[in-house]
Amino acid sequence: MAQIDNDKMVMFEERCRKAGLKVTHQRKAIYQTLIESKLHPSADQVYRQIKRSISTISLDTVNRTLQKFNELGLAFTVEGSGEARRYDGNMHDHQHFKCIKCRRIIDFHHGEFDDIDIPPAIAKIYKILRKTVYFEGICDKCK
Ligand SMILES: [Zn+2]
Ligand SMILES: [Zn+2]
Repeated sequence: MAQIDNDKMVMFEERCRKAGLKVTHQRKAIYQTLIESKLHPSADQVYRQIKRSISTISLDTVNRTLQKFNELGLAFTVEGSGEARRYDGNMHDHQHFKCIKCRRIIDFHHGEFDDIDIPPAIAKIYKILRKTVYFEGICDKCK
């Protein structure tokens, strides 16, 4: 495992402990699969990957665990509706481009998008927890 992943695993274990969540072998495997994937996988994709090494794991466990990670700020769901929820373990500032043909979700980073202003009319009504810029289109491979 690369050094950067070791640091992330330490951070992960600390975050779980603080939240009173037991650091189990399964939870570690789910988190590691998520952060190593560049595909913004759905719960089903994470499940299929992990099942190769942990045959007893269930899709339901993976689903619930990913949602828990979401609540703890260890992952978030990528926007876009009408299909399975996709998860992202990359917590650095970044934005997404999604190809409507092959459904790839690609990370990009444009510094000016990190701190976009919330229109006052929106801020008055809603509590904003996360801001993001999201592009949809056709990727280089599908074009
Ligand atoms: Zn594409
Ligand atoms: Zn991402």
